[in-house]
Amino acid sequence: MLQSLKIELIKTKKQKPAADQLGFGNHFTDHMFIMDYSVDNGWHNSRIMPYQPIVLDPAAKVFHYGQTIFEGLKAYKTDDGRILLFRPQKNIQRMNRSNERLSVPELDVELTIDVLKQLIAVDQDWIPTAPGTSLYIRPFVIATQPALGVAPSTHYQFIIIMSPVGAYYTEGVNPVKIFVESEYVRSVKGGVGEAKTAGNYAAGLKAQEIAKEKGYSQVLWLDGVHRKYIEEVGSMNVFFKINGTVHTPMLNGSILDGVTRNSIIQLLKHWNIPIEERPITIEELYEASRKGELEEAFGTGTAAVISPIGELNWQEEKLIINGGLTGELSKKLYDTLTGIQMGKVHDPFGWMVEASIVHA
Ligand SMILES: *Cc1c(COP(=O)(O)O)cnc(C)c1O
Repeated sequence: MLQSLKIELIKTKKQKPAADQLGFGNHFTDHMFIMDYSVDNGWHNSRIMPYQPIVLDPAAKVFHYGQTIFEGLKAYKTDDGRILLFRPQKNIQRMNRSNERLSVPELDVELTIDVLKQLIAVDQDWIPTAPGTSLYIRPFVIATQPALGVAPSTHYQFIIIMSPVGAYYTEGVNPVKIFVESEYVRSVKGGVGEAKTAGNYAAGLKAQEIAKEKGYSQVLWLDGVHRKYIEEVGSMNVFFKINGTVHTPMLNGSILDGVTRNSIIQLLKHWNIPIEERPITIEELYEASRKGELEEAFGTGTAAVISPIGELNWQEEKLIINGGLTGELSKKLYDTLTGIQMGKVHDPFGWMVEASIVHA
């Protein structure tokens, strides 16, 4: 597909937002990538074109049956002008696992990364450079066949859009308050909780809205069967430091296999800090807190990287963690991971991939 990549450039460039006006996912770069799929032709017609609305038939299957998947990753510009991607293979491999679960045709991992580099090269002026800023990349696939029969679509579009995003926190890492959800559930084993698909988010909006009204920024999901095992937070995996050991829910078929989660586990192992992946109950956290053993809690995800948790509320019982302040380990993980991503801290894992390419 790469050989036949068509590139149509914009005529007038958009005004770029100021670094302090970015927010998250509010502004989009000048170009986007699109590729089509049909059962007869496979993936074909790959093109980079000016960012613009797409036209779909109202019967397109994505609107009715939610056959769609997405990814989220970031590109960074270093002080010496290099463009770096953080573990892009991981995202594209996960995209294929989501594709497989949603009966969407697979994408070629290496060719997809090549296309991504080409798109970034075209819009490289859009990568912000202020501390904490980056270019967020959103690849996604939608089912486009206009037909209401419930069956996998015969036609798809794979699209990549990009958004310059700001520092998630204005002053380093600040703790968030999290509401432990007891009524609604996000997913169960055997469902689509492991896939990055729109429906998981649609299903969580109601609980998130209620938590917001109560003054909590996100929801911590419990398992859908026993309603006692910790799953994950909104769009983040979670970690708890109890008595010197870090604990995180094991990948159990209903939570997302986060790239940040995986990286944090590797970093902790590298530092010889004990890390356990296992089932964790919510009672256990409250018990550890009563004994004074719950030292830190934090969420991990591409958007915020590390998000310390200062308070949990489960069935109206509040639990304050580390006095509501950012813990030492959370801060160290945030500084190290963002340092590696910005090319400022040595990357012993070979995570960063140079995206700068010579553009013909
Ligand atoms: C994307 C996502 C995460 C975080 O994954 P990263 O790869 O670290 O960004 C966690 N949970 C859910 C539900 C997600 O969609």
